[in-house]
Amino acid sequence: MEPRQQDERPVESAAPEIRPDGELMRRASRECGVSLGACYGCKKCSNGCPLSFAMDLHPYQVVRLAQLGQIGELKRARTIWVCASCQTCLTRCPNQVDLPRFMDWLKQELAMEGGPVPEEKTLLFHRIFLREVASRGRVFEGSLMGRYMLATGGAFGPEAMKNARLGLAMFRRGRLKLMPSRIRDRRWLRALFAKPAHGQREARP
Ligand code: SF4
Ligand code: SF4
Repeated sequence: MEPRQQDERPVESAAPEIRPDGELMRRASRECGVSLGACYGCKKCSNGCPLSFAMDLHPYQVVRLAQLGQIGELKRARTIWVCASCQTCLTRCPNQVDLPRFMDWLKQELAMEGGPVPEEKTLLFHRIFLREVASRGRVFEGSLMGRYMLATGGAFGPEAMKNARLGLAMFRRGRLKLMPSRIRDRRWLRALFAKPAHGQREARP
């Protein structure tokens, strides 16, 4: 083999060096009970996700970025907000990595930070949903959708007609109640929203 000339230097990568410190994985484990370190990148979660076509990061990439401590990338990703928590990825995961729970935790972290998110309407829905749960322990679809449509303009114009038809169809199929119901144990509900669980901060909607 020819000896290397003095001016032949190894090509340096322009990408910044990543030195994961494991802090994000530790927080996920402590605050939402998800073991991200168990993921070995088989991608079964992503192959089964019904919404991956609308995501900018595949579900397995969310786990990988979290393992590498790339919280900034995760905060910018639409995937967190597109995920419907359908649990398909968890069902398929050979290591039971609870990705939907981790994404819910991230959503709540970002909601509490109060900064801009890539899907503002989904954040709004998230907040209204939590307010419903905090007030009655159950979600009343009539109130949830009414508040959401008023805030987003869906209660007016042609959008309102479309939503009214959808509401009627749901009512006919027994999917929409006329009156809200609430859980009996109000004290438990107040405690749930007042006290941190798994070391989390207050679950304020
Ligand atoms: S299915 Fe589970 S182990 Fe496989 S990449 Fe997804 S999270 Fe990781
Ligand atoms: S929970 Fe979210 S990431 Fe998992 S399969 Fe459903 S939509 Fe995809």
